[in-house]
Formats: sequence, C-alpha cells, structure tokens
Amino acid sequence: MTKATAKSPWVVHFNCNSCNGCDIEFLACLTPMYDAERFGVVHVGNPKHADVLVVTGSVNHRNRRVLKNVYDQMPSPKVVVALGVCGATGGIFADCYNVLGGADQVIPVDVLVPGCPPRPEAILDGILKGVEILARKKIDTEVVPPEKTIKIVRPEPKPEPADESAKAVS
Ligand code: SF4
Repeated sequence: MTKATAKSPWVVHFNCNSCNGCDIEFLACLTPMYDAERFGVVHVGNPKHADVLVVTGSVNHRNRRVLKNVYDQMPSPKVVVALGVCGATGGIFADCYNVLGGADQVIPVDVLVPGCPPRPEAILDGILKGVEILARKKIDTEVVPPEKTIKIVRPEPKPEPADESAKAVS
C-alpha cells in the first residue's frame, strides 16, 4: 500500500437492516460539517473499488448472502467497520425470529463503533482505526520478492600452444 492509498480510504456503505439512524449519521460524516474528505475518505458505490466496508443494521436470513457477496467483491486487504449496537450484536432487533445478529455472523469485523446511533465523530474515528488496521494487514500480506542472483560465467582458459622451437633444438 502506498502512502497515498493508506491515507485515502475508499469506503463503501451497506445497510443490512438498519432503522436508518446509523445511515443518517454516516451520511452526516460526508457532509462539509464533519468533512470526511479532510482525511481522504471517499465514498464509492462499487465494492470492487473500496478498501473499507461500513455496515449498518443487523444481519438477517435475507440479507446475509448479499452482505457476504459485497464483502467478497472487495479487493484484499480490506477492513469492515460495523456501526451501532445493531451492527455489533443485532441490537434491538436481536430477538426477532429472522435476525442472526451482528455483521460478524457473516463476515470478519475489524472495528465496532458503539452507540445507537453512534455520533459522526465516533464513526470517523472508527473508519480511521480501520485504516490503521488496513495498513498493518497490507504489511502482513506483502510478498517480498527474492533477491536476484547473478551468475558470472567466465570463459575457460585456452591451452598454451606447444613450443615448436624447443623440439627442433633437441
Ligand atoms: S444501532 Fe440504533 S440507530 Fe443504528 S440501526 Fe440499530 S436501532 Fe437504528
């Protein structure tokens, strides 16, 4: 990861089953008032371009496959930031017949941002924590190319020519 990529996280947002409270707070982060762009955060619509997945709401039987699909489309390394108690445990929906729980029931979650809903400052902090984790993941998965070995081939020394004059004297 270059320095520029580490400092310019591209974020995709997926609403699992949220009441929209967390989504509104997340969108507030993108407005000039909280100005996520000062940290280089860019909101993208395509998971194939994203480094960070922000999940809101609880996971249920209907959306679990969609969430997994969005996660799988993101290039590695990637991080997941789950917002609110719903993203962490299912929150107030946890006891519903169709709810599985938090986002970690389906995909690995790196950062949990507490609250119902969390404040925009906390969400921004969670995304920046995610960026730190992303940088560490990149170092862990980096493949160091082996050092090139250079083989020097020297030509075989030529045999000495026979001394014809010495033969003639004897
Ligand atoms: S954590 Fe609270 S605000 Fe966020 S989706 Fe759940 S109920 Fe709504």
